[in-house]
Amino acid sequence: MQPNRRHILNATLSAALSGVNELAQAASDKSAKRMPSIFVAHGSPMNAIEDNDFTRALQRWGQEIGRPTAILVVSAHWLTPNETKVAVQLHPETIHDFGGFPKALFDMQYPAAGSPEFANQAIQALAAQGAKASTDWGLDHGAWSVLHHMYPKADVPVFQVSIDYAKDGAYHLGVGQALAALRDKGVLVLGSGNVTHNLRALDFGAPAGPAASRPWAQSFDAAVKAALIANNTQTLANYLNLDSGAKMAVPAPDHYWPLLYALGAAQSGEAPKFVYEGFQFGTLSMRCVQWG
Ligand code: ZN
Repeated sequence: MQPNRRHILNATLSAALSGVNELAQAASDKSAKRMPSIFVAHGSPMNAIEDNDFTRALQRWGQEIGRPTAILVVSAHWLTPNETKVAVQLHPETIHDFGGFPKALFDMQYPAAGSPEFANQAIQALAAQGAKASTDWGLDHGAWSVLHHMYPKADVPVFQVSIDYAKDGAYHLGVGQALAALRDKGVLVLGSGNVTHNLRALDFGAPAGPAASRPWAQSFDAAVKAALIANNTQTLANYLNLDSGAKMAVPAPDHYWPLLYALGAAQSGEAPKFVYEGFQFGTLSMRCVQWG
């Protein structure tokens, strides 16, 4: 059957309009460089004021990535059971959420602006999760202790998304997936935690390396690396099945979950790049990963 003129006209018109949309999209993409999704280890807050192999790697990394339009941080230190929150204030305060450290650390400020605009876009992207706007959190040390090295001028807007601590790995991966589209608008998605984090088993004799007496930390870290290379997301979400050392390496998942947010925000086909590998205090994996 011959298609009638109106159908042909409609088809031509819609093809033309979709071309216009693509052009408009290309123009907006051009102004905002697509940003990667990254997982950053943070370890001890002392890394904020120390100069070591890890902090120098962070400095190089920030320069390599370049300047994002904004930075969305999911930190191990903002845990909100039964809800996902997004910080929307224009001037987030620097939170010193630790005790027993030198005054120099408490004196540190990271005066980056917030980004109500992108925070609200994140809330919309997380409609299915029922994410809520919040003004009761600023920038915790999971954010500023690493950003201080990556973006020392604090001239890029930063906002945090909380971790619903009542949820499982699949949920955290899903939140990351929902946030992935922000990367196309120039937003750097940054999960901040540690692949292994057992503070009771720290080895103070090994401040800048692994410990032979804690083989479970290295074996779990290696298992995570292998699963990331294989893009084995389900296994990574159910981390207790990853390796026999899982319970010692990750006695509580708060520092592990940010990895799943960054992994979730990665696109299929983006291979993980291991920007930094190493240990501090024998048991803290400082592994840093980039997708895209
Ligand atoms: Zn921490």
